Amino acid sequence: MENESILEIQGLNKTYGSLQALKDVSFTLTRGKIYGFIGENGAGKTTCIRILAGLTRPDSGRVRVLGKDYPQKAKEARARMGFMVERPIYYDNLTAAQNLDLQMQLYGAHYQAEIPQLIERVGLKNIEKRKLKDFSLGMKQRLGIAMTLANKPDLLVLDEPVNGLDPVGMVDVRHILQKLNQEGMTIFLSSHILAELYQLASDYIVIHQGQILRCLSLAELNEACQKNINVIASDTDLLQQQVETQFPEARVVREGAHTLKIFSEHVEPGQIGRIAANNQIILSKLSYEGDDLESFYIKTISGGQQ
Ligand code: ATP
Repeated sequence: MENESILEIQGLNKTYGSLQALKDVSFTLTRGKIYGFIGENGAGKTTCIRILAGLTRPDSGRVRVLGKDYPQKAKEARARMGFMVERPIYYDNLTAAQNLDLQMQLYGAHYQAEIPQLIERVGLKNIEKRKLKDFSLGMKQRLGIAMTLANKPDLLVLDEPVNGLDPVGMVDVRHILQKLNQEGMTIFLSSHILAELYQLASDYIVIHQGQILRCLSLAELNEACQKNINVIASDTDLLQQQVETQFPEARVVREGAHTLKIFSEHVEPGQIGRIAANNQIILSKLSYEGDDLESFYIKTISGGQQ
């Protein structure tokens, strides 16, 4: 079903003593997407995920997963979700298959016959006899993802899944998650590094000091960060008309009486300068502007408007 909401969180609050870790947190996840839950250390990501996993109780608010409300139907809801919160629990003296078997028993799932495929799905090879104590961190993380799949969930919830991994490990995890998503899995993953999520997520939820600041799609994020040529001109009407005629694909936005922003992948500032000179328009500013991801994020959390 297109645009089927898979998880709805509404008005979630959580306090630890005098600290309000979550303040009126609300968002909805739609099936089939990859959501990046982005926030600095201490923003409230883990608290939110722990509530979803049933490890922490909220003070107030509503959680609904696939039509099942917490806390009444939380067990049924969680049977449809796979979690990786903080460090997954492994048994070092067991093999990957034995760890997965135990995880399935824990879930009450009976897919033991599919363990070899599950191991293959996360790209672990030739590890039949190897115990976990001989696994690298990257291999353990792959197994961690396999463990979240042990109950064949509809929604994966992963808290900082690439934390501590080297760049190769990060790329591997990204590829595994992309593949799972292509197979139809909805994924919700947290990180404090926007650039890392940018490679993977289709949608972003920005949390800061316990509050949701923005929910935006990749296209909206790109738009918000988009580079533009910023021009201050003596005759903006004429310049706009000339730019639109010569570069029909460019999007020209007026800002105040004398400023134009020109969004286009093809137009260079020099070309704008030439148009201005040919039309006797005086330019007092001609420069590239736009945010990189980091400055977009910093602007967002410091209350700047895009
Ligand atoms: P990180 O990226 O560091 O994991 P986070 O976004 O996941 O950060 P949380 O772990 O949810 O943030 O923490 C939110 C706030 O709640 C922090 O100020 C944290 O110190 C506080 N906090 C979290 N768990 C507890 C707890 N059990 N007792 C007291 N305070 C807590």
